[in-house]
Amino acid sequence: DVSIMLFTRDLRIRDNPALAAACRAERVVPLFVFDDAILNGRFAAPNRVRFLLDCLADLRASLRGLGGDLVVRRGDPVAHTARIAEQTGARTVTLADERSAFGARRLAALRRLRLDVSAHPGVTVVPPGALLPSNGDHYRVFSPYWRAWEAARWRPVADTPARISLPDGVDPGPLPRLEDLTSGPLSPCLPPGGERAGRERMERWLRTDAAAYEETRDDLAADRTSRLSPYLKFGCISPLELANAAGGAYRRQLAWRDFHHQVMAAFPELPRRDYRPRGRRWNLERDVLDAWCEGATGVPVVDAGMRQLHREGFMHNRARLITASFLTRTLGVDWREGLAHFGDWLVDGDVADNAGNWQWGAGTGNATRPDQVMNPLRQAAKYDRSGDYVRTYVPELADVPAPHVRHPWTLPDEARRSIAYPPPIIDLT
Ligand code: FAD
Repeated sequence: DVSIMLFTRDLRIRDNPALAAACRAERVVPLFVFDDAILNGRFAAPNRVRFLLDCLADLRASLRGLGGDLVVRRGDPVAHTARIAEQTGARTVTLADERSAFGARRLAALRRLRLDVSAHPGVTVVPPGALLPSNGDHYRVFSPYWRAWEAARWRPVADTPARISLPDGVDPGPLPRLEDLTSGPLSPCLPPGGERAGRERMERWLRTDAAAYEETRDDLAADRTSRLSPYLKFGCISPLELANAAGGAYRRQLAWRDFHHQVMAAFPELPRRDYRPRGRRWNLERDVLDAWCEGATGVPVVDAGMRQLHREGFMHNRARLITASFLTRTLGVDWREGLAHFGDWLVDGDVADNAGNWQWGAGTGNATRPDQVMNPLRQAAKYDRSGDYVRTYVPELADVPAPHVRHPWTLPDEARRSIAYPPPIIDLT
């Protein structure tokens, strides 16, 4: 018998329950389809597509190592699945259970084919919907979710397939080039994609920085968080495997990820509508938004965050919090503008995590203190004491000593005039 394993955002061979289930058949077609509906929309940001191509090249190499291959197509994943089933006589399809609105529609369309379709866990540690409060269809506040999450029993780790054999006559097809899929600016310093790169980073981080995570996670200049988010986004590493290996403070962050995914599953409007309607009037001045996007607000810690985003396709979590609060609460710009800009650049850009965090940052989501405004100067004094985070990403300020590097407008006149850095867009004093 023949199974089709439709890879989506679970691009790994280890602890992949959908792949393990497919491998119970004698022959397996590991399939990835570049979905035109994604490629033609804003979600196909070049930074992510580039990372995705690395992931697929690595996955193909792993599958070839097992005797199989990765079959690559472009178009509609449902139509390609149907065609390959017809060609090979496959009766079953397995895939990862993905509960975004997009994933849910794709699964529903697959289920209309005359095939046995099964969706398996693996995108999150605890699947959306597995934990339910006594009075609702999902958890709206994090703390009770976290308590339930910690107490939950997790699934066992799935077996890695020992061997895969492809049915005869299936052409694997070439991997497209980046230029064939998308166009637009790429960040110059991107991490390599793929399961192998992800595991290397995971193993190194667990050995070196994991033990000090709780104390160092907010230190902007130390840069000692795991930077595993892109690998989790594309499923190069298993969140369950990571949760099993990591300590409590880190697990809590993985639980935040699961939390947003279960909110998104229950409230698919998360990227578009206020989760907690606030009836605010937003600031529509284009110049203000542009200054924020470009990292030219004149507030060093904010500009450093935005420029890190453009340079690396990544931003430290503390800087994401500061820049999001600054945009939505200090400048009063609609959180959806910030969401879109982050989505254009982040390699880890994920609909549920990005939208859930933006709503939290804007006070329209699950935040328990929705009116609290973060003062970027106080944040910088606390989390970038030395000023090195700013100096790394804002070269105009590379020679400015602390504390002025955090507020260069307090420099003596002459020194201030000698640096090519704008005055702050808003009075913070
Ligand atoms: P670590 O500190 O090492 O954390 C480990 C893992 O836990 C991360 O890789 C991530 O998978 C998960 N995690 C940590 N914090 C969060 C969180 N608040 N929400 C969800 N998951 C979390 N994360 C994304 O993965 N994709 C996004 O699109 C995204 N957008 C964000 C937008 C804003 C405005 C904010 C404030 C946060 C956003 N985050 C997003 C969450 C967080 O900033 C990143 O996950 C984290 O910075 C990634 O770095 P790391 O892997 O070194 O994190």
